[in-house]
Amino acid sequence: MTSPWPPWRDPAHTSGLGSRAAGIARAIALEPRFVIADEPVSALDVSIQAQVLNLLEELQQALGLTFLVIAHDLAVVRHVSDVVAVMYLGGIVEQAPSDDLYAEPLHPYTKALMSSVPVPDPVVEATRERILLTGDLPSPSNPPSGCRFHTRCPFAQETRCDTERPALREVRPGHTVACHYAEEILAGTVTTRTVTPEQAADA
Ligand code: SF4
Repeated sequence: MTSPWPPWRDPAHTSGLGSRAAGIARAIALEPRFVIADEPVSALDVSIQAQVLNLLEELQQALGLTFLVIAHDLAVVRHVSDVVAVMYLGGIVEQAPSDDLYAEPLHPYTKALMSSVPVPDPVVEATRERILLTGDLPSPSNPPSGCRFHTRCPFAQETRCDTERPALREVRPGHTVACHYAEEILAGTVTTRTVTPEQAADA
C-alpha cells in the first residue's frame, strides 16, 4: 500500500506535527523551487523534530526543492544540510560542505560552537578540548572593529584582528573561512593567545 501524498494528508504521518506541518504546506502551496525555513524545529520535542525533518527531506526529494534552513541546533543543521554557513554578528565566518565542516571546523567561532556539543562516547568526551568563549555578545548594530569576533576570540592576535576585517576566502577546496590566521591555526603555529615571532619582534 502506498502512502498518501502530500504526506500531511496521512494522519499517521502527521500526528503531532500540528501547525508546523500546516506552515510547511502553506509554504509549498505555490510550488516554489526555493524555501527558507527559519528555525523549523525550534521549541519542539525531539520526536516531533524528527517527524518535521523527515517531512522536509521527503518534500525535498519528491519536489526537487532547495531549502535554506536557519537553525541554532548543530545536530539539526548537520542532519539536514549539504552545505553549512556559520554566521557571527550578521556575517558569514565559515562555509563548507557539511561533512567537511563537522569533521574539521577552521574558524575559531565554529571551533568553539562544535566543542560545546557533547560527544556520546564517554572516553572521547573526557579527553576532548573545549573552547570557552568569554565576554558578552556585542551588539550587531555596533559591531567591533576589524574582525567582529576579536573581542571574544581565544586565538586573537595583537595585529590585524582588531583593525582589519578578514575576507571570506577559500582555505581548502570548497571550504571558505573569514579569519586572518586560519592556516596558522590549522597548522598549530597560532594557538590560543599566541603571538607570532614576527609580531613579538615588531612590538
Ligand atoms: S581574524 Fe583574529 S580575531 Fe578573527 S577569528 Fe581569526 S584569529 Fe580570531
